[in-house]
Amino acid sequence: MGSLPTEPFQPLDLDLFSKESKAVVDFIADYYRDIERFPVRSQVKPGYLRNLIPDTPPLFPSPITTILNDIKTDIFPGLTHWQSPNFYAYYQANASSAGFAGEMLCSGLNVVGFSWIASPAATELETIVMDWMANMLKLPPTFLSGGLGGGVIHGSTCEAVVCTLAAARDNALSQRNGEGITKLTVYASDQTHFTFQKAAKLVGIPTRNFRVISTSAETGYALTAESVRAAMDADVVAGMVPLYLCGTVGTTAVGAVDPLREIGEVAREFGVWFHVDAACAGSAAICPEFRRYFDGLETADSFSMNPHKWLLANMDCCCLWVRCTTKLIDSLSTKPEILRNTATEVGIVIDYKDWQIALSRRFRAMKLWVVIRRFGQANLMEHVRSDVDMASISKNLSLKMRGSTWLCHDD
Ligand SMILES: *Cc1c(COP(=O)(O)O)cnc(C)c1O
Repeated sequence: MGSLPTEPFQPLDLDLFSKESKAVVDFIADYYRDIERFPVRSQVKPGYLRNLIPDTPPLFPSPITTILNDIKTDIFPGLTHWQSPNFYAYYQANASSAGFAGEMLCSGLNVVGFSWIASPAATELETIVMDWMANMLKLPPTFLSGGLGGGVIHGSTCEAVVCTLAAARDNALSQRNGEGITKLTVYASDQTHFTFQKAAKLVGIPTRNFRVISTSAETGYALTAESVRAAMDADVVAGMVPLYLCGTVGTTAVGAVDPLREIGEVAREFGVWFHVDAACAGSAAICPEFRRYFDGLETADSFSMNPHKWLLANMDCCCLWVRCTTKLIDSLSTKPEILRNTATEVGIVIDYKDWQIALSRRFRAMKLWVVIRRFGQANLMEHVRSDVDMASISKNLSLKMRGSTWLCHDD
């Protein structure tokens, strides 16, 4: 049983802040040092934690040392160790010292930059860092800020797809007096990430209007211009309105790459919004030798990739670029009285609240900026290249030891 200290409560006592934060950093450093000693996959049974943690929250405070100890004894056994060198599931380790430093700064400054005035640096740094990223990935200039296009940082690809779908939907409906949402059809391949169907459902596209185009080994499990055109043609004939095509560079199951230029041109023909999802593989575009997988990106209306998957930015960080930011803003903007300010009214600033689902937002640009500056493009390229090299070695190995090397979903 604890008791209340006699001094008044100080939630941000500077002496404690410094001491305890350092203790936490040391605790995490020890975790990384020892990480290979843990079984990669948690061995606990469902519900294990109920027996270890009291049913009711404490009334009195505990020292940070006690809490860290409890994390070691109660939480560690229930962790699947994503940053372990022996972790081969889902996607690769994404933690880095720079990513963590950036997260600490984001969390430590703790500003909420929903509009420019709410923290000008948060907005301006995001615009600059997204231009930096576009430059590193050699994106078409249409995605850069300053013209019609621009980029924004979301938490996940799912959010990026929801927002671009909403923009495409509202743009299409505005040409039809706001009517006919049940006519709108969306297109993806049988390899497209399942997040796409969820996003389409969230923006009100009826499930029966999802077109899942079959792929085969012959085309490397990629979409073809013919298959996309056939699907859209059939819908037009049936009186439907093709709305949105999701292409992928690096699908989840087999790493398939859709031929962006070919399918993008078909999308253009039909006046369909073309999104390219490269959540995982997108980071590879920073290396000139892998940039060819993104050829034809200039046909896209939007492009997204997650630096939290392969570019050493700790969770979470999804970069989304759109060719026409006004379509996004027309769909997502809100103008409540409490957020009125001159800079917004004059229209000379970006208010990123109008480029995303939520109002509040984290200063994720800080993290990405720190990662890029601290490591430099040279190290980031080296990181991608060494992973690609390792993948080709382990591909040869796994052909020999098929089935025994990987941590699978339920092995
Ligand atoms: C991981 C992944 C997603 C989902 O990303 P979230 O950020 O978790 O929503 C979508 N598409 C592809 C190709 C992915 O690799």
